[in-house]
Amino acid sequence: MVVDSPLFPDELDVLPAVLEQAGFPVSGLLATHGDWDHVLGRLAFPGAALGVAETTAAFLTGEPGTPQRELRDWDEEHYVERPRPLGLGQVQALPVPGHVGIGGHELELHPADGHTEDGMAVWIPWARVLVCGDYLSPVEIPWISEHGSATAYLATLRRLAPLVEQADHVVPGHGAVLDGTRAAAILGEDVAYLEALLERGADAPLPLARRSGAQRRIHAENVGRVAAAV
Ligand SMILES: [Zn+2]
Repeated sequence: MVVDSPLFPDELDVLPAVLEQAGFPVSGLLATHGDWDHVLGRLAFPGAALGVAETTAAFLTGEPGTPQRELRDWDEEHYVERPRPLGLGQVQALPVPGHVGIGGHELELHPADGHTEDGMAVWIPWARVLVCGDYLSPVEIPWISEHGSATAYLATLRRLAPLVEQADHVVPGHGAVLDGTRAAAILGEDVAYLEALLERGADAPLPLARRSGAQRRIHAENVGRVAAAV
């Protein structure tokens, strides 16, 4: 299974060959949530089905064309040209919490909302790997996007905590792969940030290693979302 996707056309182009050389035949695609930058797998594997949480399938059905439009906007802004437009094809809605069989094993799907209102995290028990989408990023603070919620985000972090405890590796949607200890540290920082955001709004301190201009802009957006939710 390919979970989420790289962004650039050359990365997507080489992905099938890289996985084949690594001895990983691809049997399907999963996306942790419906944000456009996570659903590009079919540009690399046009014939593959895209499995998503029921919540994500509902979002993609309710807002058809949103990922394609946002991809087009991003491509225009960054002068990226693609050989073909994004088609999501047949989206398979998966019950979450739930399981997906793969070979003789089962992936565990856990609800992960708060960043957006949809989504799931994928726990691979035999490898002790957690693929968590846009949570636990070493480079991005918790981002409450348009349909997200800070309280739901906190609940997701608390739900993921026991998996992080057991994890050998955590694969966030943005930034490098983490070992379990580092991911637990980021989880602690993110809980502290969100609790402060809910209590103190704009005055909430950002995690020490994530205070760049870009992160401050995300923080300002979060402050607006939390204020609007009250
Ligand atoms: Zn996202």
